[in-house]
Amino acid sequence: KSEQNDPIIEKLSDKLQEVFGYSEFRHGQQPVMLSALSGRDTLVLMPTGGGKSLCYQLPALCSEGLTVVVSPLLSLMQDQVEALQAMGIAAATLHSGLTSQQSLTTLQQLQQQQIKVLYVSPERALQPNFIERLQEYQLSLIAIDEAHCISQWGHDFRPEYGQLGRLRQYLSAVPFMALTATADAATQHDIIERLGLDNPHCHRSSFDRPNIRYVVQEKYKPLKQIKDYVKKQQGSAGIIYCGSRKKTEEIAESLQQAGVRAAPYHAGLEHNLKETTLRQFLRDDVDVVVATIAFGMGINKPNIRFVVHFDIPRSIESYYQETGRAGRDGLPAEALMLFDPRDAQWIQRMIDEQDNEHRRLIEKQKFSAMQAMAEAQTCRRLVLLNYFNEFSDKECGNCDLCLDPPQRFDALKDAQKALSCVFRVGQQFGIAHVVEVLRGSKNQRVLELKHDQLSTYGIGQDESHEYWFSVLRQLIHRGFIVQDIRRFAALQLTEEARAILRGEVELELAKPRTNLTATRTSITD
Ligand code: ADP
Ligand code: ZN
Repeated sequence: KSEQNDPIIEKLSDKLQEVFGYSEFRHGQQPVMLSALSGRDTLVLMPTGGGKSLCYQLPALCSEGLTVVVSPLLSLMQDQVEALQAMGIAAATLHSGLTSQQSLTTLQQLQQQQIKVLYVSPERALQPNFIERLQEYQLSLIAIDEAHCISQWGHDFRPEYGQLGRLRQYLSAVPFMALTATADAATQHDIIERLGLDNPHCHRSSFDRPNIRYVVQEKYKPLKQIKDYVKKQQGSAGIIYCGSRKKTEEIAESLQQAGVRAAPYHAGLEHNLKETTLRQFLRDDVDVVVATIAFGMGINKPNIRFVVHFDIPRSIESYYQETGRAGRDGLPAEALMLFDPRDAQWIQRMIDEQDNEHRRLIEKQKFSAMQAMAEAQTCRRLVLLNYFNEFSDKECGNCDLCLDPPQRFDALKDAQKALSCVFRVGQQFGIAHVVEVLRGSKNQRVLELKHDQLSTYGIGQDESHEYWFSVLRQLIHRGFIVQDIRRFAALQLTEEARAILRGEVELELAKPRTNLTATRTSITD
């Protein structure tokens, strides 16, 4: 092969073998390394487990001078440094967690050019006297790991990361490499701009994680759903993400009571407790961690078999990043999301209340993409990949919709029944009540309100509770009904509902799925 003649490529391949013991580059690694070695800025998007670290570690060994790696997590830095040292590579860290003696030793070694790869925290990287030192050294590369933290629009913005552009200003002659596993187009753009990357070589690996099965279920009895789900997993490792600290504790407790080895994790817990939980999880002494988004970055546990989203995340980036922690070993894993349109409305409302208009707009776009994925009626993986600009029309065969496609049916008549019922109850009541009236329930509230005297009372008695629930939710998804979250999620007809009521249009809905609704007994919301 002609490329064997290129001395740089030869050197990279040799070191890959000799030092790391790998026989081949993974997709994208070699071009990225060549870009860095040629002095060009580089943006690397590779999924978790794709082999990002090697992209800067290997070039570090093939060039003169020091490679500086900025990383947001102390534990991650420590792991990487130890791994490099074990391979005989001169690596070190500088961060606030070290004693002054440790820092001093490292600084001396740097001075004497004894270090090849230096990991630093962003705080340290931005200290003026540290930047001054760096200016004196011969630098081969500055790598910014977890680069999405730079972007305000990303899912894990860190203010000190946002400042890293300053480093660039002082070290304009050194090539930069920004690496991340998750960034949509807006975030990528932001990374390039904020870091001041100059015409960077961009490597984008496929975002597809074929071993992860994506599943969305309607959230109707969330605690029971979670318990049933976790029990079915029979002790495999998993993470359950939820939107509040309180919920993590409640869910963990109820799982514990059900005999599951579960523990909560959130930023408000004591440091030692968090460390213990993490260690137990890594050692398989705890099976399920119920966490806020504080749990995750840098968790290097290959055998996580499931990730559950108890609440819908704010963006596909977050969803992708969090679900991506499952199945790093390449074996089958599952990502389950529990979806309730009311949660979505709450989030929308919170976004709408933002003052910063630009931010509001971006967050709105990001969230509406997330919502579209949750409400998708065709392959979820296509929606996901499409969001990251990977276009395909081949359905994946490994998501709930591919495996169990919803049947469609002519739903005009039923939609008319449901919409008229919403209208007859004065557009003042939520889904559950409308369903009661449709099905001719004799519950006390229905009778008290005299809703048993409405023309729509009982017109849907041939169909089940679940059936109507699903029809109404689909009518919400499709924009014929909105839920007024200021008034107990009362259902209200939209302008579009008229054409349905007049029978002027056709309407197909997905046949309610029995497997999702089988365990639903009574709905109280
Ligand atoms: P990322 O940071 O992208 O999540 P890592 O850099 O931690 O991924 O790499 C994931 C795993 O893949 C590591 O165990 C790493 O040693 C391994 N790896 C990386 N590159 C190669 C390669 N070319 N051949 C074989 N294994 C590799
Ligand atoms: Zn699919």
